[in-house]
Amino acid sequence: MPFNTEFNKKTYRIKIEGLIQGVGFRPFVYRIATGLKLNGSVENRNDGVVIKLKCTSTELSEFSNLIRKKAPPASHIESINHKEIDNIDFLDFHIVKSSSVSQTITDVSPDIAVCDDCLADMKTQLNRIDYPFINCTNCGPRFTIIQDLPYDREKTTMKEFVMCDDCRNEYTDILDRRFHAQPVACSVCGPEYSLFLNGEIIKARKEILDKTIQLLENKNILAIKGLGGFFIACDAFCEETVARLRKLKNREGKPFAVMFRCIETAKKYAHINAEEERSLFSLRRPIVLLKEKEKLAPSVNVGFNTIGAMLPYMPMHYLLFEKSGLDAIVLTSGNISDEPIITDNQQAIEVLGSICDGVLTYNRHIHNRTDDSVASIMNNKERIFRRSRGYAPVPVKLDTDVDGILATGAELANCFCIGKDKQAILSQHIGDLKNIETYEFFAETIEKYKKLFRFEPKIIVKDMHPDYLSTRYADEFDLPAIKVQHHHAHIASCMAENGINEPVIGVAMDGTGYGTDGNIWGSEFMVCDFNDFKRISHFEYMPMPGGDMVTYEPWRMAVAHLYKVYGLEFLDFNLPFLQNIDNEKVKFLCSAIDANINTPLSAGAGRLFDAVSALVNLCPKSRFHAEAPMRLEAAIDKTIPDTYNFYTGDTISFKPTIEQIVKDIKNNIPIHKVSTKFHNTVIEVILQTVSTISRQHNISKVVLSGGTFQNKFLAENIEQKLSQKGYTIYSQSKIPANDGGIALGQLIIAANKKR
Ligand code: ZN
Ligand code: FE
Repeated sequence: MPFNTEFNKKTYRIKIEGLIQGVGFRPFVYRIATGLKLNGSVENRNDGVVIKLKCTSTELSEFSNLIRKKAPPASHIESINHKEIDNIDFLDFHIVKSSSVSQTITDVSPDIAVCDDCLADMKTQLNRIDYPFINCTNCGPRFTIIQDLPYDREKTTMKEFVMCDDCRNEYTDILDRRFHAQPVACSVCGPEYSLFLNGEIIKARKEILDKTIQLLENKNILAIKGLGGFFIACDAFCEETVARLRKLKNREGKPFAVMFRCIETAKKYAHINAEEERSLFSLRRPIVLLKEKEKLAPSVNVGFNTIGAMLPYMPMHYLLFEKSGLDAIVLTSGNISDEPIITDNQQAIEVLGSICDGVLTYNRHIHNRTDDSVASIMNNKERIFRRSRGYAPVPVKLDTDVDGILATGAELANCFCIGKDKQAILSQHIGDLKNIETYEFFAETIEKYKKLFRFEPKIIVKDMHPDYLSTRYADEFDLPAIKVQHHHAHIASCMAENGINEPVIGVAMDGTGYGTDGNIWGSEFMVCDFNDFKRISHFEYMPMPGGDMVTYEPWRMAVAHLYKVYGLEFLDFNLPFLQNIDNEKVKFLCSAIDANINTPLSAGAGRLFDAVSALVNLCPKSRFHAEAPMRLEAAIDKTIPDTYNFYTGDTISFKPTIEQIVKDIKNNIPIHKVSTKFHNTVIEVILQTVSTISRQHNISKVVLSGGTFQNKFLAENIEQKLSQKGYTIYSQSKIPANDGGIALGQLIIAANKKR
């Protein structure tokens, strides 16, 4: 009876928390509420979505169940709480418009992989059959096309495309899956691909697809426009073509990423556990580093036992695989060596067109450049190594006000970070600023963020390294500046990500970073909070003969270690790694160490790994950043439990380790054994040092960060073993442990210092 039902209705305030911003959550709530014929309102707040609903208790639980069950795929509900409030008489159910900027910034969603509903529509909807720009509220481009806020079609690069009547009807119908889907498009009104081939332009959709497939299947290399930039593609099984691509891209030792047709195919070539599968399949679709099972073309991963794998995420990827016999394609960033990936059509045709056999592009402009993101699963948790497409610019929520702070980050693998209220917005992966084009990308992206997020810097934060280009950039501002030590920033980044704010033991294992004593740090054991840090211990300083040259010639670090232990006597050991290096050059380096000429001191963990990788003759010369440590990691045999000796004290000495390694080399002990024993040694060093500091300072929370923790064997073992000993471990997951995460730490430290 109507009267009774009305009488039983009460007004409830329902609060939903989780990842629910910018994913079409309010229209979704509207559809559920109106479907149940309930009145009330829905509103976005900084801390979640607030719904007011007039209903009976039965209707309330029905409503909550539907919200949980049917939530948009890109959302993640953490909690739904309700309480009864004073009666409100609603006339309908409506969406309350958000007003403050801090609310609208959360509407900048990252790009989302095409959803299953759209893939189904691509087979059935007449105006979208095989139409590769299909999307809906649950999927499609976002950040890469957003020019300004509020997120509205007019403020995206879709504005040039005038919606046809069919699309507009969907766009304006709140009950439709494409309600307010800003990039909504169909074959009548939306963007189109073109294929540039030997001076010819192909524009017919079917011909483009057929031709592209035919080219890829027949040893050709194509530039293909992705969501955030161009990529270069070729058949991942054709060694001849992949080897040719290596030459064209001027990239020798670094593995290429591969896109597999589907998860089943990926499983034939890589070991994939449940968590890795989840990551591969997530809407963010990162490249996931997997253990190789079956070989692709050898030039794909150049001797590494891992595969950087991803699954299709754009409608075009699905079409390519669906209509071809290809099982996997190399899909690598469309750039020449270290430059940022190309986003501009004309530039792609000129630059990539000259090295590739064709360029597949489309006429929607990319506003924000994003590269593919890279992740690895360690201890069943996703760890981001390169944070870009699908992840940026999701803010990190803090409990500190960081408004108006610009943190410029490090120099290599740069990301910068801006503070907006209590949110830190970390930029997408920028890259190595020493490359001039990358530096321009850095400066121009800061300008874009200032506009997009209505951000005006009032405080600027920089690394202590005076010569980092990010530091020099910061120096150009006439603003209060705060200098932050590199490894303190690493640890603070991890603390901020994990929401802790109290004294902790910070372990920063890293390649390099400027220390307060003017030396290079990178193996820091510190007690710190956001205010300050105290360096308790570190690896012994070692001279780096030739300075920065050691990064490409790790053998120099091996010589430094040997010279320290044996003097020139090591020249008589007949060590294999020295056989191709001029004896006089080695002697010269040793005298340079004595004379202290161009031999800066480094405590970087990365340099120790370099030394050992060269010493066992695995990687005396390195072709890309961190190749030597990566090759050493790849040689590990997990079944070997042995360690080498070391000394601990105020500093940690690996002198006995080096002596024992030399002995093993002389005894022809295989590399995998030496590598494993060495890794076990570093793990033991960290366990012992942490336990000593914990006793002395009565702290049991341990924060791990720094690029060396991208070493899976090291990270997994240290986390497990420290946990077993009763420590609470925090490591980075959503924010990179490498220098890409530094800016977040700089930001939070500055926020605490300015008070
Ligand atoms: Zn969709
Ligand atoms: Fe670092």
